[in-house]
Amino acid sequence: MTEAWEAPLREAVAREHDNTVALLQRLVRIPSVNPKFVADPAQNREAEVQDAIEAELRALGFTTERSFPLPNRPNLYGHWAGGQERSLALCGHVDVVPVGDRASWTTDPFGAEIRDGRMYGRGAGDMKAGLAACIAACRAIRGLGLVLDGRLEFHAVVDEEAGGFGAMQAAARQPAPGAVLVAESSGGTIRPSAGGLEWVRVVVRGLNGHSSRRFASIYPGDHPARSSGRSVNAIELGARLLGAVRELETEWGVNRSYPGMPPGMNTISPGVMVAGAGCGPDGMPTILSNPAIVPDTCTIDFDLKFLPHERSADIRREFEACIARFAASDPWLREHPPQVIWDLYGLHFPPVDTPVDHPLSRALRESREAAGLPVTFEGALGVTDAAHYAAHGIKGIVYGALSADAHGPDESVDLASLLEAAQMIAAATVRFCGLRT
Ligand SMILES: [Zn+2]
Repeated sequence: MTEAWEAPLREAVAREHDNTVALLQRLVRIPSVNPKFVADPAQNREAEVQDAIEAELRALGFTTERSFPLPNRPNLYGHWAGGQERSLALCGHVDVVPVGDRASWTTDPFGAEIRDGRMYGRGAGDMKAGLAACIAACRAIRGLGLVLDGRLEFHAVVDEEAGGFGAMQAAARQPAPGAVLVAESSGGTIRPSAGGLEWVRVVVRGLNGHSSRRFASIYPGDHPARSSGRSVNAIELGARLLGAVRELETEWGVNRSYPGMPPGMNTISPGVMVAGAGCGPDGMPTILSNPAIVPDTCTIDFDLKFLPHERSADIRREFEACIARFAASDPWLREHPPQVIWDLYGLHFPPVDTPVDHPLSRALRESREAAGLPVTFEGALGVTDAAHYAAHGIKGIVYGALSADAHGPDESVDLASLLEAAQMIAAATVRFCGLRT
């Protein structure tokens, strides 16, 4: 249903589009590389991005405050007072990934150059365009004198690109908003769901020995030279374990699915495999030895994705059962079962599973329909800060502009899509929060 405020709101966003583009340029020109990738004060300027956003929010009548999820790295919050029941948070992250190979860029990564309707720069798409779109939406709402019934919060968070400790803290605040719109780029697709992600380490223990005595371990028989010096090679056990995990992955991929998600996206990808001698408290070998030592530790880190409707606790149990079955098939491993370590690096991303008839889904759908735009619902393949809100029971949706080459050279955002995103976020915010009468 088209509302009376609808067309004027879209027009108000359009009138301010040049200012929105200029704001995005200012944000892109402040390098805010996550310091976990590169520690360089000249590039780690998240706080300056927050200063720029805070000035915008204050000019729009937001009350602002900060918190520090990590030392010297502030989250910025703003809010317009309003009721709890229809409260909403607009969320974006201010950190960006490093430039990477500078020679592969055809523009200055922090120049925010505009060419053929696109703005280029690190963070232009991921996701300073989202922050600019949310500010533009608030400016239009304010400009028309619309007063929202529900409380509107603005969460500009740090650290999305390296763990999401900013959003973790934002999502834990009280009173919690009723829902969150994470304005990562989506090209106008409404993304109400995302798979969960776990990083899990499996530590396989063998028995050290001298490589010259390997024959004593791998050939049968009772030659006197085979009577001592037996070893158990952890690398070979680890390689066999990979096969067992691959079988579980295939079983999940073939038998399970979720609407709007490509079949088989629930993968268990081995990402790191390290073998050596000794084993520290973190499950890593303490000595990366030379090949003369048969390794007694093989450590494998997996990136495990599961479907939006699955529960992390169930997935963990299934994975552990797979490792236990594998161990039961081997006499040595029966006595020395592999160790499974969850929450690697303190990370854990619950799935996002917001219904397509949730009020925020509806608000976005109706806003696009009212503007004569096609409506597509699809799950998100990557994890976003919406996961950290989901951990606190806050339903979230990813919705934003159309970007290209995020994390790569010549990252860019389409400026027409920035306008559309700002218009739709404005309309969906008014629909979701309602108006004071
Ligand atoms: Zn992002």
